[in-house]
Amino acid sequence: MKVIDSIRKAKTPLFTFELLPPKKGGKIDNLYQTVNDLVEFEPSYINVTYHQHEIEYYERGDGLMEKKVVQKRPGTISISSALYNKFKIPVVPHLICGGFTKEETEDALIDLNFLGFNNILALRGDPVSGQKRFKPEPGGHVHANELVSQIVQMNRGQYLNPNLKNTTASDFCVGVAGYPEKHYESPNMETDIYWLKKKVEAGADYIVTQMFFDNAKYFHFVEKCREAGIQVPIIPGLKPISTFKDIDMIPRAFYIDIPNELCQEVGKCKTREQVRQVGVEWTAQQAMELKRYGVPALHFFTLSQSDNIRKIAARVF
Ligand code: FAD
Repeated sequence: MKVIDSIRKAKTPLFTFELLPPKKGGKIDNLYQTVNDLVEFEPSYINVTYHQHEIEYYERGDGLMEKKVVQKRPGTISISSALYNKFKIPVVPHLICGGFTKEETEDALIDLNFLGFNNILALRGDPVSGQKRFKPEPGGHVHANELVSQIVQMNRGQYLNPNLKNTTASDFCVGVAGYPEKHYESPNMETDIYWLKKKVEAGADYIVTQMFFDNAKYFHFVEKCREAGIQVPIIPGLKPISTFKDIDMIPRAFYIDIPNELCQEVGKCKTREQVRQVGVEWTAQQAMELKRYGVPALHFFTLSQSDNIRKIAARVF
């Protein structure tokens, strides 16, 4: 089922979560286990992230370094297909602009269509590690709104090659990303929402947000989006703090604030288990307040671990 149809049908917020493909060499069994652990809470759909290649440098032994392009977490489309076939729960593969020409994007869309997917989360992707700015592939999309347009064109049966005959129209429901604390490249929230609206005008059916730890940020963001004329559902993304390192890493990696009260609670912890419990408590409180507010769904960034999300889901759903 399409995400937008699940949202329309639901009377209470949906439970949804995101998985990361395992690192190269890893097995899919851990993902299966994560889903098995969460299946009793009846997830409406499961997202699978897409990871662009990264640049790594190796010592050659002659004093020089060799540059190699590596993909650390391949397999988004095949993993999505395996998950769907095993659990029969709708899967939302992520598709990014980075690393794709428009033709390669079209091929990925054709694969997804063949495999029976009708949901995609359309994203630009971050700069490749070691690069400061996002660099599109020559002949690729620069921003997510262009990717949304390409998907919508295929939904109308319009492919890149005008000579194709019998072009089948796809039927993808498209989600896009939104940032309650604004995207880090945007000069201000208004500009970021202006571009977010362009993604919706291009055909996005719903928005799913970056994680946040203070619900006031989400409420304010929704208000600003509505004022700007964005009417589609805005799904909050939540991640429980799970390690001591998260307090340093999350603001650097995602350009978001962690409230002082949460930092202090983590500061009192002596063990990793205590940190995970603080994270569970905080996110459960966030989720319950968001549920009372009437959000369309609660979307959890699991990092493919289920113990903490299970505890939260047991309290909220
Ligand atoms: P865009 O919508 O293109 O926006 C990027 C920036 O450009 C913003 O500052 C925006 O205001 C501005 N902008 C947008 N359109 C235009 C335009 N037409 N002209 C000028 N400026 C514009 N990354 C991955 O690599 N893989 C994933 O699987 C993944 N999953 C994610 C899931 C969620 C829920 C979220 C919130 C993020 C995810 N990301 C993922 C991260 C995302 O790719 C990055 O945040 C990226 O930096 C921006 O992606 P975007 O789709 O929001 O880009």
